[in-house]
Amino acid sequence: MQVSRKPKKIAAIAAMMAMLSTTSIAAQMDSHKTEFKNFPKAKNIIFFVGDGMGVSTVTASRIFSVGIDGELTMDQFPHTALSKTYTADHITPDSAGTMTAMMTGVNANSGVIGFGAETERQDFNNNGNGERLWTLLEMAKQAGKKVGVVSTARVTHATPAACYAHVNERNQENAIALQALPTDATYNERLEDGIDLLMGGGRRYFTPSGMTDEEGESGSRGDGRDLRKEFQDAGYTYVWNQSGFDSLAKEDLPILGLFERSHMEYEYDRPNDLGGEPSIEEMLKKSIALLENNKGYFLMVEAGRIDHAHHAGNAFRALTDTEAFDKAIEAAVNKVDLRDTLIIVTADHSHVFNIAGYPMRKPADLQYNIGTAPASYLDNDMPHQHDGIFDVAYDISAGSGSISTSTDSNGIPYTILGYHNGPGYRSGPRIDPTVDPFPGLTGANTQNPDAFGNTGSEHTQYLQEAAVPLGSETHAAEDVAIYGIGPQSWLVHGTVKNTHIFDVMKSAFKY
Ligand SMILES: [Zn+2]
Repeated sequence: MQVSRKPKKIAAIAAMMAMLSTTSIAAQMDSHKTEFKNFPKAKNIIFFVGDGMGVSTVTASRIFSVGIDGELTMDQFPHTALSKTYTADHITPDSAGTMTAMMTGVNANSGVIGFGAETERQDFNNNGNGERLWTLLEMAKQAGKKVGVVSTARVTHATPAACYAHVNERNQENAIALQALPTDATYNERLEDGIDLLMGGGRRYFTPSGMTDEEGESGSRGDGRDLRKEFQDAGYTYVWNQSGFDSLAKEDLPILGLFERSHMEYEYDRPNDLGGEPSIEEMLKKSIALLENNKGYFLMVEAGRIDHAHHAGNAFRALTDTEAFDKAIEAAVNKVDLRDTLIIVTADHSHVFNIAGYPMRKPADLQYNIGTAPASYLDNDMPHQHDGIFDVAYDISAGSGSISTSTDSNGIPYTILGYHNGPGYRSGPRIDPTVDPFPGLTGANTQNPDAFGNTGSEHTQYLQEAAVPLGSETHAAEDVAIYGIGPQSWLVHGTVKNTHIFDVMKSAFKY
């Protein structure tokens, strides 16, 4: 068996080398299907989590980013599955429960990080927490691999925290930060000498309240401790802006990067940041370069703000952050050796976000002549090539071939994108009296990320319409997609519980 396989494996490697040298993603994806089964073990795993990146978000981002018949990088992955996201106590989950499930293989309760289903949020039964579960990051660290946690959200937020912390209330972010600090009494000793690379937002939980940070904003630590300093005393290199990030080299490990007081900027708003922030693609590339070593690495990369833009009812920032996330995935495929690196892409849960009506495709897509059409439909001069996804819906008359704006039962146009609930509710009592009841529907505002001229506040951005008034739009319970490439990624198939993602990664590491 060994003897007969060996030449085949070498031939496969040779074929792969030839294939990889073309550096075409399509070629790598193609060869993956036939050749990669010869590489059963992963030295490295990159786990990409698009927070709140449900299937409708992927579809809308595809239309926006590469066109309706284009392909995102994640679309090109050879192995896909549907992932059931319910937690042990909720039909519609949150990130704490789902990320715990994906990182430990155990379905947990919403709001709880790193404990199983017997541990309820905030231990309201006062019966103590259950056993701490083992996370894949802890297992990787114990096996001598380098480990990295990168997020555009706060590094103490639920998704990144579920890689390295154990706490029965996800909002205890001050406590979560301490579990990553090697010199603290509550340190998670399974992390041995520490998380090698921890990057994202969340400086406020590392800065004492009453103290202003590097960008002039206040800290949130009631205990008066300056963890920026304590991490440095524990051997970490600390950076907080673009130039600090740019200067990072391997010898700087372990590294703590905190680029914003709270979550990092949305990709669209990033150029306005005071100290400058790296993009998620830059963070991904740098992380691979820093973590690469003989024993391998585990790297979790979260696009944490897709979720936040949806909660705010602003599809533009959700889609532009998803587009930036896909660029990071593309960079990973191009940078790693897919024979020894497993890449998994998934979401922790979906959102109540819809692509609705029967909207026509853009004029340039049509292969027949149309009759009359409103100028707003024919207008294609917006900065983004495929911005039509943000437009109002247009339909065509089968009798005349003329195009007109689709209207609702009140005769009012509606956008293609919308939400089941959230701050974009348009009638009855308004969430925010400054929101025009039908903003933008008479102009190009639906396509403008800052229709109301204010880049700072969510409520002055264009908000897609919501059916149910809520201050914050909610998650949704339907399945999300899993995409896999690299060793053991063929285990990504079927309709599975999200705990299966842990099983796949564990199997690839051969633990
Ligand atoms: Zn959320």
